[in-house]
Parts: sequence; structure tokens; C-alpha cells
Amino acid sequence: MKLVSYNGKRLGVIRDDKVVDVSDLVATSVGEWPPVGMNRLIAHYHGKLPALEAAVAGRPGQPLDSVRLDTPVPWPSKIIAYPANYHAHAEEMGRDYRANTQGFFLKPPSSLSGPNDPIVLPVNAGRRIDHECELGIIIGRACRDVHRDDWRDCVFGYTLLIDAVIRGKEERVARKAFDTFCPVGPWIVTADEVGEPNDLRGRLWVNDELRQDANTRDLVLDVPGMVEMASSIMTLYPGDIIAAGTPEGVGPIRDGETVTIEFDRIGAMKLNVIQGDTGKYSLFAQPAQA
Ligand code: MN
Repeated sequence: MKLVSYNGKRLGVIRDDKVVDVSDLVATSVGEWPPVGMNRLIAHYHGKLPALEAAVAGRPGQPLDSVRLDTPVPWPSKIIAYPANYHAHAEEMGRDYRANTQGFFLKPPSSLSGPNDPIVLPVNAGRRIDHECELGIIIGRACRDVHRDDWRDCVFGYTLLIDAVIRGKEERVARKAFDTFCPVGPWIVTADEVGEPNDLRGRLWVNDELRQDANTRDLVLDVPGMVEMASSIMTLYPGDIIAAGTPEGVGPIRDGETVTIEFDRIGAMKLNVIQGDTGKYSLFAQPAQA
């Protein structure tokens, strides 16, 4: 099943090229704050599945191109992101560590944006701002200390994720936490439809130029390993997002460009990049240190 948030946090299921509204199947009110309807739908998915399937079969739906898709999970308790999780990317960045020995960092939920939102570049005195093409993993249930053999019990589905970043030596979180620096979408594809996540080709284009083209088989820490490590440290909750790390080919994005991300069996989304006027604080006023 493909699940979407749309038109101001309505919940929907994709059927062919239509969106079927299932907001009423979850105890949520559209437009509520915080917007946790999708978290609730994910948490109760298995119990709601007969009703969801009946809705998809029996309701009319709206054309997909007539709705505005939002980021599918706007309020995860956390976004866990693995750096240096492909050898070739770690090498291009000159890193001597890898995700399996270095661990992960967090991006704030406020950095999320959706498939119809532009990536807004902060004022940054010429600093390079890069795209990172990543598989997004959506957690399905509260879980802790998950052994890698049991990873399927807590992975709900997959999505597309761009981990945008200002290059430099400052704290990684500060460089990756700007609003719109975590585009996620256009939907969540449930794990049963994706199958094994260890052979997914992911690509990213800037305008028409192919910048990144890799396969999840080359991950240093695979999906079971990422779940095992993260859950050994903290409880994972329904709707939490794991950013699997970027392959090689990261590069700058600039005002006026478009970024397109695509993964096998998940989908694609194309985003505009625009220059904003926020982020004037002096933290990034100096050139990046080598
Ligand atoms: Mn990344």
C-alpha cells in the first residue's frame, strides 16, 4: 500500500492514479497540531487493514494530480541519519570512519518538507550546500533492542529522503537542520510491497544531470543493522524515520535548479531549489575550513 499525507494533513491511500481519503479511519482531526495522524495510522495499521482495504476498493478517490501531497510523516519523534554508510561516499569525503563504527546523528522533524515544497537555501556566504540521495526507512512500532534478525517486526515501509547539508566543520546537526533540509516523500510504500530492501537502486539528478546512482546492496550497515544499532540506544516509535546514508556523487545545489530523486519500487519526486533570506546568523559567515 502507498500512504500519503495531503491537502493539509489529510491521510490517503494511492490507488492507481487516485488518492482515496482514509482520514476518518484514524482517530485524528485534519489540521490538528501536532500533526500525528500518520503516526497513529502506522501504529494501528494492522488492525485497520480490513477497513483500509475496503476503503481503497469502495471509495471514489481524487486524481493524484489534483491534490497537494505533503511530507508523509510530518511529526516523527526523531529522524535518525547514518553518515558514511557507503564506502565510496566516505572515501570521496576523506572519512576514515564508517557508520558501523561511528554511529548516527539526528535531524530535527522541523527540517522535513514534502514533494511539493522547495528546498530553501539559507544565506550562507558562499558555503556549498549539497544534496544527499537516501533511502528513508519508516518505523512501524515501538521497539527497543531489536536483534538484526527481527528487523522486519519494526520496519513499516520506505520512502525517499534527501539529506541536505552545508559543508564545513561546524557541528553536523547545525549544518543539516535548516527548515526544508530533509525533503521526504512522495509517499510511504509499505514493506510488503517493497520486499527485500538490500537491492534497491537509488538515483538523484540535478536538473538533467545524473549525480548519484547507487544500490543499497553497497550499504556498510544494512537496514537490519541500522535498526539494530539505533534501537540498542533508544526506543523507536511509529513514524520514526531512518535516513540510510548517501552514496557517492554528492554535489552542490543552487537557486533555480531542480533535484529529482528516485528509488526502485518506491517512486520519484522532483523538487525546486530556491534561495531564501533566512539563516543570516554568523555561524556560517566564514568560508568552510579545509
Ligand atoms: Mn546523509
